[in-house]
Amino acid sequence: MAPPGGNLPTIDLHVHLRGTIDQSTALTLAKKNHVHIANRYLKPDEGYVWSNFEEFLNVYDQIGRVVRTAEDLYAIAISYLKRCASEGTIYVELMLSPGHSVLNGIPFGEQINAMETAFEHARHEAGIEGGLIVTCVRHRGPDEAVAMAEQTVQNLSPAVIGFGLTGNELLFDAAEFKGAFLVAGEAGLGLTAHTGEWRDAASVLHTVEQLNLSRVGHGIRASEDKAVLERLVERNVGFEVCLSSNFALAPHYSRLKHPLGEMLAAGCKISLATDDPAFFNTTPNREYSIAEKSFGLSASQLLQITLDSIDMSFGRSDTKMRLRQKVGH
Ligand SMILES: [Zn+2]
Repeated sequence: MAPPGGNLPTIDLHVHLRGTIDQSTALTLAKKNHVHIANRYLKPDEGYVWSNFEEFLNVYDQIGRVVRTAEDLYAIAISYLKRCASEGTIYVELMLSPGHSVLNGIPFGEQINAMETAFEHARHEAGIEGGLIVTCVRHRGPDEAVAMAEQTVQNLSPAVIGFGLTGNELLFDAAEFKGAFLVAGEAGLGLTAHTGEWRDAASVLHTVEQLNLSRVGHGIRASEDKAVLERLVERNVGFEVCLSSNFALAPHYSRLKHPLGEMLAAGCKISLATDDPAFFNTTPNREYSIAEKSFGLSASQLLQITLDSIDMSFGRSDTKMRLRQKVGH
């Protein structure tokens, strides 16, 4: 898809590596690794089939299981980075939950090495930059999260720039993950967590305060309480807003009811992101285009989103400087 707003470079700060596995890659890896994918989950041409959230999680898990080696991780990562680069995206932060792949038999250190190589090759071969956010999984509980943070700190590499929390937001209090986020924060990693996708506005502020976050995954329900939104704006918290994901998984956020416009008007720092692009049939450029066409954002608002995304990113200062130069600011 062509770049939006007159060739504006786009950025993707919220994308799960497993969510980038397109159908042809999934089928290739399934064949290579002797993993079965049920036909009912495959759309005739591209993409996946599900009719409710539970089915989405099922198909998501099935597709994740095709990844069996560090080489598979590398192949998926570089494929997404190069696809993004070909559309004019200049920077991507990929989330990886090593716990999932450890279960598939790939040691933690090998996963980090594979991702580092993918980012390095993508930068040299396609000019796109990025970094890795290691994520712990909320529904697996705080103990595993601490272990994940400790392993991350022991396996730090230039590619590892952030630590995050994914999984079922309705389980556990965010405060229970404070220990894990302290370990990661003390090592200098950027911190983010999924919040305010399913739980209410107060939970967004609570999560930000407890885990000392500079940005949040989704956070859109913060818009339901003006006082909370104001506090988050005062704290300069960045929001990773994933429009196609919200439309697909939370149907009450139709295009008319989604709070993106309201959040921008309240002064929120916003980044647009794909979440699980292979499942929601989207790309970074498509997310910008939806914001432009369905929400009426102007070219200067879209430019501001890219500049805010650079600001929100966990990249080092020299990376941010290069990105601003690419955008012409
Ligand atoms: Zn997500």
